[in-house]
Amino acid sequence: MIISMKLHATREEIDEVTAIVKHFGYKVHSIEGEERVVIGVVGVGDVTPCLESVESLPQVDSVVRISAPYKFVSKEFRKGKTRIRVNGIEIGGEEFVVIAGPCSVESEEQIVGLARKLKAMGASGLRGGAFKPRTSPYSFQGMGTDGLKLLKAAGEHFGMPVVTEVMDPRQVELVDRYADMLQVGARNMQNFDLLREVGQTRKPVLLKRGMSATVKDLLMSAEYILNEGNAQVVLCERGVRTFEDSTRNMLDMSAVPNVKGQSHLPIIVDPSHATGRPDLIPAMARAAVAAGADGVHIEVHSCPERALSDGPQALLPPQFAAVMRDMRRLAEGLGETIA
Ligand code: PEP
Ligand code: MN
Repeated sequence: MIISMKLHATREEIDEVTAIVKHFGYKVHSIEGEERVVIGVVGVGDVTPCLESVESLPQVDSVVRISAPYKFVSKEFRKGKTRIRVNGIEIGGEEFVVIAGPCSVESEEQIVGLARKLKAMGASGLRGGAFKPRTSPYSFQGMGTDGLKLLKAAGEHFGMPVVTEVMDPRQVELVDRYADMLQVGARNMQNFDLLREVGQTRKPVLLKRGMSATVKDLLMSAEYILNEGNAQVVLCERGVRTFEDSTRNMLDMSAVPNVKGQSHLPIIVDPSHATGRPDLIPAMARAAVAAGADGVHIEVHSCPERALSDGPQALLPPQFAAVMRDMRRLAEGLGETIA
């Protein structure tokens, strides 16, 4: 952080600023020019409280933040890309990864039948919710532990790592027993207790962007997980709420290069929750490949009209096969490969 004093600030005014900076635990390096004094602030941790305090002083002209408010997720902290191994697959490596599955696990027949098809069509990972964050308390809330068991069994049978959502810190231990990757959903992106709890596991975490979260908010939430010692975080862009009402959310594809410019963590795209529309998912999945994402996360259901959650946005297996084909063709043209 660099503080630029107003022209001809007095010694007392300068001392007041340095006292505040030191109060917050930072060191100061001042450059005293003829007319203006510039104060460099050095130290670790989030400088925001110090910055806000100094910025409000009348003798201060401007304050510029130099390093990002996050540390472990930043590129400054880790140069290369972080590759995350999820029980046999790698996210953030050379290959683009496709995770697919139903919104919710609904029955053994449903998840096994679908997993068989998805595996044959080339999906690497299997998703399926057992604990569902629903807008209405009267909607299907997920199968709970039984759903976790069915998902794990299907994943093991077809050699697909499984990812499923955990909504509450008290569920982490249970979900950790069955899942290969813990999903923190959009509604919980700023559930800080949950972030700390998944940060204490040794499982990879899929952290979805909150529907009103900025890219910086997303990175700050990831920082909570890394700060607990778990560096295996995959970010997920799944659209944000805007005034547009013809799509479920608005997919911010720029978040992909935006995150990559600031962080070493992988980022995948979820065109299903981002658009809520099967007719838009294929183009947005291709766009994710073109944008340089590390993968996609797509909802598929064999019978969407009977789905207990998110049926209207689910792709049918043949539609998913077509998306796979298109993504492969595009990836080939770009010199990339899909796992
Ligand atoms: C989901 O993956 O089914 C889900 C609820 O996603 P999101 O948290 O992005 O809404
Ligand atoms: Mn869903």
